[in-house]
Amino acid sequence: MMALVHSKDYEKHETGIHPENKERLRVIINTLEKEGILNHIPTNKHILKSRNKIDVFRPETASLKDILKVHSESYVKYLKSFCDSGGGYLDPDTVVSKDSYKIAKLAAGGAITASKLVLNGYNSAYSLARPPGHHATRENGMGFCLFNNIAIAIEHLKKYNKIKKFIIFDFDVHYGNGTAEMYLNDPNVLYISIHQDPSTLFPGSGFIEEIGVDEGEGCNMNIPMPPGSSNQDYMYILERILEPVFNDFDAEFQFLEVGFDAHKDDPLSRINLDDEFYPWITSKIMNITNQLVLILEGGYNLSVLSRCNMKMINVLRNELTYEEEIQKIGNEVKVSNETKKIFHNIQDIFSSFYDF
Ligand SMILES: [Zn+2]
Repeated sequence: MMALVHSKDYEKHETGIHPENKERLRVIINTLEKEGILNHIPTNKHILKSRNKIDVFRPETASLKDILKVHSESYVKYLKSFCDSGGGYLDPDTVVSKDSYKIAKLAAGGAITASKLVLNGYNSAYSLARPPGHHATRENGMGFCLFNNIAIAIEHLKKYNKIKKFIIFDFDVHYGNGTAEMYLNDPNVLYISIHQDPSTLFPGSGFIEEIGVDEGEGCNMNIPMPPGSSNQDYMYILERILEPVFNDFDAEFQFLEVGFDAHKDDPLSRINLDDEFYPWITSKIMNITNQLVLILEGGYNLSVLSRCNMKMINVLRNELTYEEEIQKIGNEVKVSNETKKIFHNIQDIFSSFYDF
C-alpha cells in the first residue's frame, strides 16, 4: 500500500521564470488526478484505508526545533528575514518569495509525514514537495534548495522514534552535497548517490574518492557518471552495487531521493536515461527493501515529470510486479568501458567495507 504526501500550498513558493517552478508539482498531481487513483484523506489520522488507490495526506509543518537540528540558527533567521522582506535571489541559482520560508518548513514536514506513514504500515510513502532539499547545507540554501528535507526527517526519526541506522539512495542527476556533508562522519547514515560526473555539473563535488571521514568512512558512496551515459550504464553499475550494499549495511530505514533530471530530455543535464529507467529502479529498490520513503528532488522537463513519475507510482502501487519490471530492460549488454572502469574503481575503494 502506498501513501502520497502533498499540499497545493507548495505552489506558494514562487520562483517566477525558473526551472524549479510550481508547474512541476502541478503536472504530476494533475496526471494522477486524471487517472482517478488518488484517495484524499481529510485528516491526518494514520489509518490504512484503500488497497487500490493511493492515500493522499497533507504534510505537517516541520517545527523550528526540527529545523535547528540540521541548520544553523543564523541561516534560519537570515532566510526568514530575507523572505519576510519580499524575497529575491538567495544566490545566483536560488530564488525565494515572501512565503518561501513557511513553505520550506512544509516541504521538510512532508518528509517527516511520509516517514511516519511508513512507520504506520504503508509499504511506501512519497513526499511530493518543493522546494527540494538535497543541496541545502547547514549554513546555506543553494541549488534551488532551502532546507535539507531528508536530513530533517532523519533527525526527527532519530529523536522521536529511536531509529538509528539509515540508508539513502539518491539518483537525482546532481550530487546531494548538502545531505552528504551532514553525514560524512556518521557511521549510521549511508548516502549513495549516482549522478553526472561533477567535473561537468553542479555542485562540483561527489567524486569516488569522497568516501566519508573518520568513523563515517565507507558511508558516502559516489557513482559519478560521464555525460552521455544511458540506462544500460546506470543499470550495469546499480545491479552490482545496490543489493549487496543495502544488505551489508542493514539499515532500519530506507530513503530514495527521486530526481527526474538525469532523463535525456531534461534541460539541465547531459545524462541520457529514458522513461524505462524509473520503473526499473523503483522495482529494484522495492525488491531489496519492502519499506521505502521517497522524496522528490529535481526534474525540470514537465512532460518527463508527469510520465516518469506515473511509471514509478504504478510500480509502487503494484500495477506491475517488481520482477516483471526488472526483467523488461535488464538484459541489454551495451555498456561503455568507462562505465566498467568506474564500477571497478568503486569496487576497489569500497572492498574493505562491503562485499560486492
Ligand atoms: Zn538535480
